[in-house]
Amino acid sequence: EITDSPYVVLNMRIMTRMGQKVLDVLGDKFFVPCMHSVGYPLDNRPDKPWPCAENVDDKYIVQFPETYEIWSFGSGYGGNALLGKKCFALRIGSAMARDQGWLAEHMLILDVEDPKGNKTYISAAFPSACGKTNLAMVTPPAGLKGYKASTIGDDIAWIKPGKDGRFYAINPENGFFGVAPGTSYDSNPIAMDSIKKNTIFTNVALTDDGDVWWEGMTKEAPKHLIDWHGNDWTPDMNADKAHPAAHPNSRFTAPAINCPTLDKDWEKGSGVPISAFIFGGRLASNFPLCYEAKDWDHGVFMAATMGSEATAAVLDAHGGIRRDPMAMKPFVGYNMADYWGHWIEMGHKGYKVPKIFRVNWFRKDEEGHFMWPGYGDNMRVIKWIIDRCNGVAGGEETLLGFSPRYEDIDFTGLDYSKEDFAKLMTVTKEGLAKEAAGIASYFEQFGDHLPKELAAARQEMEDKSK
Ligand code: GDP
Ligand code: MN
Repeated sequence: EITDSPYVVLNMRIMTRMGQKVLDVLGDKFFVPCMHSVGYPLDNRPDKPWPCAENVDDKYIVQFPETYEIWSFGSGYGGNALLGKKCFALRIGSAMARDQGWLAEHMLILDVEDPKGNKTYISAAFPSACGKTNLAMVTPPAGLKGYKASTIGDDIAWIKPGKDGRFYAINPENGFFGVAPGTSYDSNPIAMDSIKKNTIFTNVALTDDGDVWWEGMTKEAPKHLIDWHGNDWTPDMNADKAHPAAHPNSRFTAPAINCPTLDKDWEKGSGVPISAFIFGGRLASNFPLCYEAKDWDHGVFMAATMGSEATAAVLDAHGGIRRDPMAMKPFVGYNMADYWGHWIEMGHKGYKVPKIFRVNWFRKDEEGHFMWPGYGDNMRVIKWIIDRCNGVAGGEETLLGFSPRYEDIDFTGLDYSKEDFAKLMTVTKEGLAKEAAGIASYFEQFGDHLPKELAAARQEMEDKSK
């Protein structure tokens, strides 16, 4: 990447492998050239600390999948400027993966070790702000004695078939570019420990003793701050919740090696063998905690139709799902339905493909409370998933696929009743009918690009709802 922004240089130094060592490995081999400009030619005028704010109309973030090139003009922040991330690793990456027979995905990678020391690797795709970084740094609950989870990646996975036919994943990144607000010692202690040193903070607030702060870091805001605009800030100024001290999308950029739970194999060039692909959005109603696909094609259907509710507050708005296939809606570098076709094809080449699961940590009850404790307790679901992969967990066929019964989940140390679990897992035929209808209208836009396997899976869903 060539850029005119020192900010981008410093962030890329954390987010990617760079420098002479990399040039030595690359030699004259293929690479993806990335050109970035904040879009503020000096032309004898003084420079600005945030020049792209001057130019709101001319922004071009352009990927060329035919030639594997990236040009970005007029934006200095995040995925628009750190071009190795979404632009290369996902948009160009997905086009390369189609051309070369692998998968470039918006997935975390986690190593789960059971009490006997057996390792199972899983990869999970959740849309932005749906819990990837949290699950990648999960602390198993005390009740699941002897279970360990370690982090390989929290955002992107490149997955290639190995010689043994299994799918091997690498994390192509070198750091974490995480959303700061909401990150606290309560919500994600491992992330907090990962940003103690050598970290860049963007658009956060500054405390009087020179530390950083953002909404959600502590229960109470400090009495005085410098806000993300650089102005004096006191808590009363945010009484309307519209003037937070830190920008809602403020970020930390931290080297992966800072992470206390980083896996010892996180940089292994050949990757780690994935046993399960997990997909999930944010669904307040009708969707159960978890279920397993019947087979690969059914799993691709589950992934292609995932989404989140448009407004989480509306409990019965099941029709209002904003679909985000594979959490890749903003990131697929070619036709979405062709991308689904590529996924289907990857399952029909004789590889030993991972099992596919859907999860939903976000179901709410009639009062609007989360029905599942989430966070560390999600490990109980992950345990069921890896036990399914290893052929040692029970389940039952349900309207959606295979689901755990109460006795299939390890609730040790968590007071969760059979009745609550039954509510959490409930799927009605009426809900299924709505979902099948919603998917039918969603699929229409893809015309004859839609893989027939997905149309068939949708039809089966409709039939089951009768
Ligand atoms: P990412 O953008 O996909 O990496 O998502 P994060 O891990 O940063 O989490 C986004 C938001 O979801 C944060 O506010 C988390 O606190 C919240 N979150 C993550 N996991 C859970 C969970 O299991 N349950 C609930 N209720 N919220 C969660
Ligand atoms: Mn994240």
